[in-house]
Amino acid sequence: MGQRDYYEVLGVEKDASAEEIKRAYRKLAIQYHPDKNPGDPEAEEKFKELAEAYQVLGDPEKRARYDRFGHQAATGGGSPFADVDVQSVTEFFESIFGDVFGLGRERRRRRGRDVRVDVVLDLEEAAKGVERQITVARRVSCAECRGSGAAPGAKVESCRACGGTGQQRLQQGFFVLTRPCTRCDGAGRIPSRPCPACEGTGTVRREDTIPISVPAGIESGQTVVLEGRGEAGPLGLPPGNLVLRVIVREHPIYKRDGDDIHIVQPVAFPRAALGGTVRVPTLWGEVELKLKPGTQPGQTYRLRGKGIARRDYGQGDQYVHIDIDVPAELTPRQRELLEELDRTLESGGAARAHEGRARERKGLFEKLREKLGG
Ligand SMILES: [Zn+2]
Ligand SMILES: [Zn+2]
Repeated sequence: MGQRDYYEVLGVEKDASAEEIKRAYRKLAIQYHPDKNPGDPEAEEKFKELAEAYQVLGDPEKRARYDRFGHQAATGGGSPFADVDVQSVTEFFESIFGDVFGLGRERRRRRGRDVRVDVVLDLEEAAKGVERQITVARRVSCAECRGSGAAPGAKVESCRACGGTGQQRLQQGFFVLTRPCTRCDGAGRIPSRPCPACEGTGTVRREDTIPISVPAGIESGQTVVLEGRGEAGPLGLPPGNLVLRVIVREHPIYKRDGDDIHIVQPVAFPRAALGGTVRVPTLWGEVELKLKPGTQPGQTYRLRGKGIARRDYGQGDQYVHIDIDVPAELTPRQRELLEELDRTLESGGAARAHEGRARERKGLFEKLREKLGG
């Protein structure tokens, strides 16, 4: 497979200045960082390709060689970033531009891994907030050695592989990366004899039931971070976080629009015509809604404060969109009454008056459908 021209990858001219190349790399790398494009393998490829292009064009000597002899001369053959993970490429980027993604500091503060769990909620739970138990399998601090990784009586010594820094510098082609030390797992120290229960790692895998609390008003896709509830760090390093990703199930009746709820409420024709009360379900229990006489299909009533609890203050509303219920079957008595009504409406010429309203009504339902995206 042929490699793309590095100038083309960065979108710069062949005679671009060093500053222009640097700026182009910064901008595109931020745009294509995999954290900003979850589940998009192309973004990841692009992110790596950008790094590869920049580490050639960003270096005057390599750039000169590339200009004269092409890819082979500049990279020594192959794609230096093809087998490198995203984290390393991010570190390469941050070694030039600093902690742009806000990830670097977290990662360098050596600690346990974050654990990500999806939490599926009903709309009711999202509206009111919920407490529940979830089961999480993760590495926790070893009870035998209290996380030190050392066998009873063993000494904990500075790791010789990394000189106690916890970091290893390693060569990837011509390119140097910094990685957590593989021998001490980034801890910088290592026990003289490993704890048998955890094989010297200081952590053991365990399944736990953890109480969680999701605040009211949460929306699908939002996350709740429980600090320090993730994986225990190796050899007594601090734990990572437990990151809950909330998924809110669609509700068969209620449609959510931010903090507001919309509902279509069927009302029998006589009730709509005469006015009166109907019972309307809300997330907070049934309420009685007073209909004005002559209520039309598509007419909207607002129930204040019956929507979703806001995360900061107050509460959304519920909008009740009236739909007129036409009975599919009638008793003889009902038929008789309706026929009589029908005759009075005909003779009053009301049928024609309704033609205009029908158009209005159609508009209302279309607007609602648009709003709710159905
Ligand atoms: Zn080490
Ligand atoms: Zn242990």
